[in-house]
Amino acid sequence: MLFDHTKLSKNAVDFVDAAGVDELLAETRFDAKEFEDVLAKSRAKEALTPAETAVLIAGSEKESEAIFETARQLKRDVYGNRIVIFAPLYVGNYCQNDCQYCGFRRSNRESIRQTLSDTQLENEVRAMLRLGHKRTIVVFGEHPKYNADFIAECVRKVYAVREGNASIRRVNVNAAPMDFDGFRKIHEAGIGTYQIFQETYHKPTYARMHPAGTEKSDFLWRLDSLNRAYESGADDVGLGALFGLYDWRYEVLGLVAHAQHLMSAYGCGPHTISFPRLQPAAGTDLSWKYNITEEIFKRLVAILRLSVPYTGLICTARESAEIRRAVMDFGVSQIDAGGRIEIGGYSELGEKQVSEKEQFELGDMRPLDSIIRELLQDGFIPSFCTACYRKGRTGQQFMEFAIPGFIQKLCTPNALTTLEEYLVDYASDETRQVGKAAIAKVLATLPANAQKTELISRLERIETTPERDLYF
Ligand code: SAM
Ligand code: SF4
Repeated sequence: MLFDHTKLSKNAVDFVDAAGVDELLAETRFDAKEFEDVLAKSRAKEALTPAETAVLIAGSEKESEAIFETARQLKRDVYGNRIVIFAPLYVGNYCQNDCQYCGFRRSNRESIRQTLSDTQLENEVRAMLRLGHKRTIVVFGEHPKYNADFIAECVRKVYAVREGNASIRRVNVNAAPMDFDGFRKIHEAGIGTYQIFQETYHKPTYARMHPAGTEKSDFLWRLDSLNRAYESGADDVGLGALFGLYDWRYEVLGLVAHAQHLMSAYGCGPHTISFPRLQPAAGTDLSWKYNITEEIFKRLVAILRLSVPYTGLICTARESAEIRRAVMDFGVSQIDAGGRIEIGGYSELGEKQVSEKEQFELGDMRPLDSIIRELLQDGFIPSFCTACYRKGRTGQQFMEFAIPGFIQKLCTPNALTTLEEYLVDYASDETRQVGKAAIAKVLATLPANAQKTELISRLERIETTPERDLYF
């Protein structure tokens, strides 16, 4: 045990064992009536328990269509057709851990180590802003260099950068678990979501992947980290599992148990769930990995959609354009786009991927403009909105607001104004045309009222004046 377990949260329990995940997987048999009941509960937008999720998992190929169809409907009801866009910002890849799957692990001699200097950080943010980004997640290896003070300072610096009248409006953080004091510091720096992946909820696999003696080998310290974040004032937290380390079904139930644990302990589930699939990484042998086929991947996304109706689902550019397109239809509500994961990737490296500077390889390297255009052509509304967090509509409050009227009153107008900003300031002519038509189409569906009049006025101001950041 590397960390002082007297400094765990007041809710530090191994909820994975408590949920009896092994037993659920071994003993849940498909039952048509139970299956229908669970789907009905999802349709009513109620979160599922691990036991109910196991009923969906036990369904065969034949039941998959019902799962996809219900997920598609639920996604439309809760999120409408918006897709939130963000981009990662890798700050440093020094790492004292030795996670078997990661290109940044300390035993990987091929990795080129670097931490962005203040100037480089500023250049990276400027380059992101010139592309049109408004939301980012800063990412760090686990190393004494990257302590809470350093991360908090980094967050402040990112917020402070200006490129013309543009700035990053929401900075999320993905970094090693901290203690209470550390979480307080990054909260005070104004972070949006604190995100951390458990990697695997299966303890024997966790132990194999994270060699004893490394910081990350402490399963409970990591499992408890989001409890500590909440107890230190965090507004939003994001959880995740790295699919390919173990049986996907176990990880899905682990994620659902985790969401349920946060809900019952803090009255607020996770803001987002991520489900990255293991990708090739330079200097890293992954021949042992569990094969998560495309079919399984799509199925697990649909099952998660049904299990946690109000939690945003993130699919990163680790996945190909085709897969991302498919899962947005029935589950995913946030994607990164036009992002770089090499240290200095936005401002220093040009278009080529430099694998020795990366943690893993990307599947979707298309520029932001192409992704925005494709989303629009597919009937989605890309959104750079950051309003909820800046208006204090986070955590429990967000859960309360995530109801149909809320989307029409706030999310849709904010999606349209941030999209309009993108179209006016950054888009290619082709994307601008497609985007303008999409905005007109959405406007036509909104009821005539004072808010619509205000929205139209704001869209015009963005088009004709330098005014920006007009959010509801
Ligand atoms: N170092 C911190 C940690 O481990 O929590 C935070 C950042 S780490 C750079 C972000 C995530 O990348 C990890 O939690 C892991 O799930 C994911 N990752 C690592 N290696 C990967 C790979 N080969 N393919 C896909 N994702 C990977
Ligand atoms: Fe380090 Fe995180 Fe990679 Fe593990 S996953 S080696 S902790 S950067």
